[in-house]
Amino acid sequence: MSSLEKKYPHVEVDLKKLRHNIDAVVKICREQGIGIAGVVKGFNGIPEALPLYQECGCTSIASSRLEHIEDARIMGLEGPFMAIRIPMESEIPDLVRLADISLNSEITVLEAINEECKRQGRTHKVILMADLGDLREGFWDVEDLVKAAVYVEKRLERVTLLGVGTNLGCYGSINATPEKMEELINRAKAVEKVIGRRLDIISGGGTTSFPLVIEHKMPGRINHLRMGEGIALGKDLEDLWGLDMSFLNKDVFTLRAEIIEIKDKPSYPAGEIFVDCFGNKGVYIDRGIRKRAILGVGKVDFSLDSQLEPRLQGLEVLGSSSDHLIVDVQDCKEELKVGDILEFGLRYSTMVFLTGSKYVRLEIKR
Ligand SMILES: *Cc1c(COP(=O)(O)O)cnc(C)c1O
Repeated sequence: MSSLEKKYPHVEVDLKKLRHNIDAVVKICREQGIGIAGVVKGFNGIPEALPLYQECGCTSIASSRLEHIEDARIMGLEGPFMAIRIPMESEIPDLVRLADISLNSEITVLEAINEECKRQGRTHKVILMADLGDLREGFWDVEDLVKAAVYVEKRLERVTLLGVGTNLGCYGSINATPEKMEELINRAKAVEKVIGRRLDIISGGGTTSFPLVIEHKMPGRINHLRMGEGIALGKDLEDLWGLDMSFLNKDVFTLRAEIIEIKDKPSYPAGEIFVDCFGNKGVYIDRGIRKRAILGVGKVDFSLDSQLEPRLQGLEVLGSSSDHLIVDVQDCKEELKVGDILEFGLRYSTMVFLTGSKYVRLEIKR
């Protein structure tokens, strides 16, 4: 930790608003027999937020990063904890020590988990992933999935087969439709037929599968989702899916940054246009002289300035460099000056980068 008495930039996390969102999502899903793994990787597992996921009845706390699960354990949370990035072979000792459940897609890794369980005197549960077209993790062929399931069921004495799952709308931009869910259920049935018992969990995906729940189109046998964005932000479902998400707080996270320069300047750069500081050719529209503010926060902190949403009317994010954010404030009704603080709502990428930046203070609102 640095010794700077620094106030800005900071990201405020409103725990009451977050609690409301977790409660709301858990309740809607519970009514349809769906358990929720509360995914905390999107805000880098901010420790103060972790207990809420347990208190609000998530069936597990989940992250792609074992560090977050370790933090939750150190805080004394009970879990269960789910590791949702298919494990690296090199992290299996930590995985077995920290996580109760993991998503998996490689037989050699499953075997290594079993060996590590023996070493540590523990057991571990797994959900086998089926790739239904999004082309990220998971078995592509049904036969391979079934083979792996039988292997876990019959050969791995310390690893329990909890169920099957899938992931959609991450790499391949594949939409979660009732048909995709039926495909997953059919894969589960193929497994069940061979192992001769019903699987506990069929995990239908993340936030991108939540619209099916809201629209009452989720097939009955899907009984588990792993949700991050749709709880913490709830923005994508409204903006991209056009769903009414008014039952969620969209302002759990707020970035506050300080104005360090405010001047009237031309909107079009003067001189020969080459590339910006990241090697990109900028696009600039000549709108004449405009009042613009520079804020003390930059790409190092949020990566994508287009995913910052100014809260004040009449502001427009123009662009950024590593350490500067440039905002057009010409149309803002308020009289802004150097030293003023501007607020921004976050989206997934800005949430994940800002909460992970060592230059951005976290402000926990209880
Ligand atoms: C990140 C992740 C999730 C949660 O995604 P959201 O879009 O934030 O709900 C679920 N499952 C897996 C495997 C993930 O990696």
